[in-house]
Amino acid sequence: SSFKRLLIVSYRLPFTFQQTDEGVELVQNSGGLVSAVLSMAERMGQRQDDVTSKIHWVGHCDPAFQHMDSSAFENDTFIAHPVFMDKAVHKGFYEGFSNDLIWPLFHYFTSYASFNESDFDNYQQANTRFLEELTALIEPGDLVWIHDFQLMLLPDMVRQAIPDATIGYFFHIPFPNYEIIKLLPRTWRQVLIKGILGADVVGFHTTDYVQHFMQSVSEVLTLPIIGQRIVFPERSVVVRDFPISIDFNKFNRSAQEPAVVEARQQDQALLRGTKIIFSVDRLDYTKGITSRLQGYERFLIQHPEWHDKVTFVMTVVPSRDQIGQYQEIKREIEETVGRINGLFGSIGWRPIVYSYSSLAFTELMALYTACDVALITPIRDGMNLVCKEFVASRYDQRGVLILSELAGAAQELRDAVIINPTDTQEVADAIRQGLDMTPQEQERRMIHMRKHLQNHDIFRWSYNFLAAFDDMMGHQPDLE
Ligand code: UDP
Repeated sequence: SSFKRLLIVSYRLPFTFQQTDEGVELVQNSGGLVSAVLSMAERMGQRQDDVTSKIHWVGHCDPAFQHMDSSAFENDTFIAHPVFMDKAVHKGFYEGFSNDLIWPLFHYFTSYASFNESDFDNYQQANTRFLEELTALIEPGDLVWIHDFQLMLLPDMVRQAIPDATIGYFFHIPFPNYEIIKLLPRTWRQVLIKGILGADVVGFHTTDYVQHFMQSVSEVLTLPIIGQRIVFPERSVVVRDFPISIDFNKFNRSAQEPAVVEARQQDQALLRGTKIIFSVDRLDYTKGITSRLQGYERFLIQHPEWHDKVTFVMTVVPSRDQIGQYQEIKREIEETVGRINGLFGSIGWRPIVYSYSSLAFTELMALYTACDVALITPIRDGMNLVCKEFVASRYDQRGVLILSELAGAAQELRDAVIINPTDTQEVADAIRQGLDMTPQEQERRMIHMRKHLQNHDIFRWSYNFLAAFDDMMGHQPDLE
């Protein structure tokens, strides 16, 4: 590839800081984006063991760490460039505009969206703070890769500051249709769409999101669109789908490790050999947790023969629970769990084993591989990685995936049992179908889905994103 360095910009840095007795320690995140970036840099010829070619990453940092020496923001792989900002600006930008407006609106929860002029000011100011850190860093030959809905204005800000910069932008949540975008004040929607179009390559998870974006571009800015390109007089922008994925081999391999096998056997023993339904999500109204519980309740009502023979292990990972809407759905979930357990449970059987906590990786792997059915029912989800991780973990080619058609992943995992989460009867029927499915049928579906994910893993995702630049510049990427 023709780039010298990869510069990453995202709201979150690739590590978190932990206070220890000796001072502050860096803990590198294990998420998919970090793995994708590492493999992409390697492909660009940026070697991790070479100090001069560490990967630069611009991200927000709590002002509590502002006193620290810049050397504290490096580990063996990354050099972080912390963006500090005024607490009030951060609140309006992150909690306000990003999480209280864009998040609900772009997930079609329009009544949860709060429109606030000062939040938009703060969003612009915060994006400007990111720009300042980035422009101090950027050199000719760099590829700048900007991430997600917190930074929609940044691509165009960089374009204005450095006209010949090479910029990629990836959007990690759904991009909704124009009727939703139209709810934004006219100037906001213009500035946001124009902001994204500062990039050379713009990526979304699915072709639907690409089409929605194209529709907004033509409504808001009346620019000509030719195939996958939006054409400006002086340059063009490629807009394409790049469905994000997971490290297939990591999940496939970890599922067979002794610690996971032991934890799995322990879980199965604790549940006395009942069939296991499993779900895990962050606490969020988009995840359809209440609808899922209603589907399970309907199933228990209609199938008394399954009482005492099935356990629904439902983990909700704490998130944003200082916010009113999140506290409210947490209460609703916990009331529903309590009601269902009270109604159907007995001394010897809890229909739902609920926990509000995060899972260590070994425990997550144990549950992915111990369960008979993974029940994944978001009302709206940009992609949903949990379902992909579940499939990748099933080296035994067993287990049933029940998946909402409203998750981006449903566009790829056609061999899941696809349901609509608001259709309680359909969810109840799918649970029964899942629990009754023959091993042959489970295997047939799993083999298809696993093959797809093996071929479309997180490394393929970053490879394709990088290749889009080389395509654009008119030559083929260096093949591995
Ligand atoms: N996960 C986690 N902590 C947990 C359980 C799961 O961080 O206690 C991970 C999970 O492995 C997956 C991610 O959280 O990689 C959830 O991604 P997804 O796209 O499904 O949903 P999001 O939370 O991003 O909306």
